[in-house]
Amino acid sequence: MYNLKGNSNLTLNDGGKIAVLGGGPAGSFFSIFALKLAKQIGKDIDLTIYEHKSFLNEGPSSCNMCAGVISESLVQLLAIEGICLKPPIVQRAIDTYCFQTISGDVLLNSPSLQRGIATVYRGGGPTSKSTSETNKKPESEKISFDDFLIDCAKKEGAKVENIKIDKVELNKDKPGIFSKGEKLFDADLVVGACGINAKTAKMFEELGIGYTHPSVIKAFQSEIHIGKSFVSSHFGNAIHIFLINQPDVKFAAITPKGSYVTVSMLGKDITKQTVIDFLNYPVVKDKFPDSWDIPDAFCRCVPKINVGAARHPFADRIVMIGDASSARLYKDGIGSAYLTAKAAANTAILYGVSEAEFYKYYYPTCRKINRDNFLGNLMFAFTDTINKTPIIREALLKLLRNEQKRPELGYKCSTILWDMFTGNERYTDIFIRAFNPGLLLRFLINIFNVIFIRFKTIWRQ
Ligand SMILES: Cc1cc2nc3c(=O)[nH]c(=O)nc-3n(C[C@H](O)[C@H](O)[C@H](O)COP(=O)(O)OP(=O)(O)OC[C@H]3O[C@@H](n4cnc5c(N)ncnc54)[C@H](O)[C@@H]3O)c2cc1C
Repeated sequence: MYNLKGNSNLTLNDGGKIAVLGGGPAGSFFSIFALKLAKQIGKDIDLTIYEHKSFLNEGPSSCNMCAGVISESLVQLLAIEGICLKPPIVQRAIDTYCFQTISGDVLLNSPSLQRGIATVYRGGGPTSKSTSETNKKPESEKISFDDFLIDCAKKEGAKVENIKIDKVELNKDKPGIFSKGEKLFDADLVVGACGINAKTAKMFEELGIGYTHPSVIKAFQSEIHIGKSFVSSHFGNAIHIFLINQPDVKFAAITPKGSYVTVSMLGKDITKQTVIDFLNYPVVKDKFPDSWDIPDAFCRCVPKINVGAARHPFADRIVMIGDASSARLYKDGIGSAYLTAKAAANTAILYGVSEAEFYKYYYPTCRKINRDNFLGNLMFAFTDTINKTPIIREALLKLLRNEQKRPELGYKCSTILWDMFTGNERYTDIFIRAFNPGLLLRFLINIFNVIFIRFKTIWRQ
């Protein structure tokens, strides 16, 4: 429960000035929704997005460093908002997940899915220094998702300034924003859509409004060039999830894009060598063409991933959104940016910009994500246990393979894993579905089956 100290009645008047710090998905979504809503109710707002990166260049410095998987539910929500994702922004439409363990793999297809998951580049694509000139992708294929969203915001009337905001100051009345030591203006509302990779969130902590940025861990991301035809023939439209017990690696995934695959790894002290060791694991190497060698150089980055909730992400005339506030654990961060941006825009335009209004109308959305993550944590801990226990791991693979062969069983376990790894549904809903008595019984039967087969093999020796 928060002790609210701010004013209770602050609204945006006509001509109200909004400064959005950050032009990643959260900043662009907020701008699109706020400007659309203001237009609908006949309110005139003056909104500027401050984004210091250009998303048009190649490499990590022009990119918001992520695997770029847009969940099926977000693709649909965006289409309803009139934001349609299609090629060349969409690099590949995903319809399958492949779970690879050291005991074997299983391919999961969602029966309801109509190729709704999209993969995108957040910046201007991987740096082509790492690929030979002949393999270099034509510029027309390197369309940035973040740049596309900024364009959508511009079409709604947002102004965009390509500068870094280096100071926010709380005056008696309104927060002032500064760049290179120069005050730009006092804002009626400052939106902190700065993510967690810049030092900007720290700037908000130092304002003394009670804000604390979310806890984070480091991830390691690499873009490996294998050529468009090899991506299609060896990875197709499938994201590969690897649960192979590599030391210090919690999670690894390979996401196919145009001519590249994105390798995302979570764990302790992951380095370029950990990635090379991963690519050399027999079950991983098998996925790549025989003639392919790991390149000496490839585009890579070490971004942070949000694994906890921010404290007090709002104050009078200030609201923090996206990764700087709350995001779903390990999944669908862009979907969380959408949810928090929409709730903050609705609050600011329809109700007001005071701490009390943000607490009443915006904060419930963050709280819902945070509570859902509690169950997400439990489910990922359970996945870890499955992965480390050979009998349970084999039983799960059997169960999944059986479901894929026999649709009449209803894909119960497959859809649980599908929703968990695609980020398609809330962890709470998946958790409830996991307690299906029929499913638990089938899982138990498979465990006994694996134990029996092992026992029989030992007995025969
Ligand atoms: C390895 C990894 C893989 C991921 N994979 C996925 C995935 O597949 N799908 C998914 O949905 N999510 C994924 N995520 C999460 C996703 O990247 C984030 O949740 C999402 O980018 C959050 O959006 P945002 O707008 O809040 O922040 P960001 O995308 O970080 O954007 C913040 C923006 O603010 C700008 N900025 C910051 N400070 C200032 C300043 N002072 N002045 C001007 N501009 C500023 C930055 O330049 C940046 O452009 C992944 C994350 C990681 C680390």
